[in-house]
Amino acid sequence: MNKIKKILIANRGEIALRILRACKELDIKTVAVYSTSDKDLKHVRLADEAVCIGPPPSTQSYLNIPALISAAEVTHADAIHPGYGFLSESADFAQRVEESGFIFIGPRAENIRVMGDKVAAIEAMQKSGVPCVPGSDGGLDDDHPTNIALANKIGFPIIIKASGGGGGRGMRVVEKEADLLNSIELTKTEAESFFGNPEVYMEKFLTTPRHVEIQVLADEHGDAVHLGERDCSMQRRHQKVVEEAPAPGLSQELRNKIGTVCAEACKAINYRGAGTFEFLFENDEFYFIEMNTRVQVEHPITELITSFDIVREQILIADGQKLSVSQEDVVFKGHAVECRINAEDPINFMPSPGKITQYHAPGGLGVRVDSHIYNGYNVPPHYDSMIGKLITFADTRIGAIIKMQNALDEMVIDGIKTNIPLQRRIMNDETFQKGGMNIHYLEKMLGESH
Ligand code: ADP
Repeated sequence: MNKIKKILIANRGEIALRILRACKELDIKTVAVYSTSDKDLKHVRLADEAVCIGPPPSTQSYLNIPALISAAEVTHADAIHPGYGFLSESADFAQRVEESGFIFIGPRAENIRVMGDKVAAIEAMQKSGVPCVPGSDGGLDDDHPTNIALANKIGFPIIIKASGGGGGRGMRVVEKEADLLNSIELTKTEAESFFGNPEVYMEKFLTTPRHVEIQVLADEHGDAVHLGERDCSMQRRHQKVVEEAPAPGLSQELRNKIGTVCAEACKAINYRGAGTFEFLFENDEFYFIEMNTRVQVEHPITELITSFDIVREQILIADGQKLSVSQEDVVFKGHAVECRINAEDPINFMPSPGKITQYHAPGGLGVRVDSHIYNGYNVPPHYDSMIGKLITFADTRIGAIIKMQNALDEMVIDGIKTNIPLQRRIMNDETFQKGGMNIHYLEKMLGESH
């Protein structure tokens, strides 16, 4: 390593452990930070140093920038890895980290800022040749006749989306002209109160798309590669539940075409680090919706089909090194499926924190468990309910599904409720087994669609 000898991990749970493992393999020292309800986290015990950064609410701990920077200062860390969630997509955090003399393991602050504003992101993508959803090409103004003309040109149904939106909030589908004005006004009001930015824009509403995303890696020397795609169409309330790679039915030609467009876009915007271009995919066409400027929950499925360590590569890139692979070296092999394991009621989806009284992890060839839980671990009520990821890999899609069925049967988590029964049901579902479902399928399967 050139510059990075010690990394502060500004996260918790499974991703903190994932980052710690990558650091150990690279012989980099680790600093864990934790809230008072997280002192028994596995990575806190395994890290070289650990610093308590505040009380349980994340606003006072994992989102507390001064506390994180101070922890990096007192432990003499060289770099900070933000993981996903929390401050990972905060341009202000990235900037503060670098201004304080640390390396931010992620993109430049200006890239994060542009991608955090959807209108700006779409504009940057259009300029770079990335296909976008037909829409307003910018924020809507108050000129109602223009908006009506635009909506009719795009064709109903359309969707009004907040420029500063995120987490599936701040959008509204409009079926007919009579509802347009009202919907724009409502979405603006919501956007202002949720995100502090009233700007909204208009897109064609795709009725039966799949969610297909492209993983990219770019170094600071101007090189970029894509690692193929993931299909994350199995969603409930815009939250991914199951992910797989590759996307069923996607041809190698289409994969290379869209992947190359994404890698080239990275070069065009001077991107650095790992990133994901999220697309809606309908009738063999890709439509960009947003870029995530961080490592994603579902990165392991890409690692399994490419034999490529994404977190390790993030660290090497941040260290100033060149990408360790060229596009020709990226070879796709086999099929991987990931089930998110959540501490929640499998029927009504209410969070189910508490003490894990029994834990047995599944195993065997092609089974990977990324989780921080252990026997006796107490799942705190303050954070996201995801407690791990179960990932299987086989030569074929059905092979990976069969492995997943067996792994789910082997997995025992007692003391709290989990969504394992739901994941079993999905793996046994005939439509899922055929593959290529659209983003509404899971809610339909659960009888929740409206
Ligand atoms: P967020 O940042 O809030 O997650 P996205 O722009 O990524 O917002 O959209 C979230 C989800 O909303 C998408 O995965 C998709 O289900 C739905 N969605 C967004 N835009 C469209 C569209 N133009 N047509 C159909 N569905 C859409």
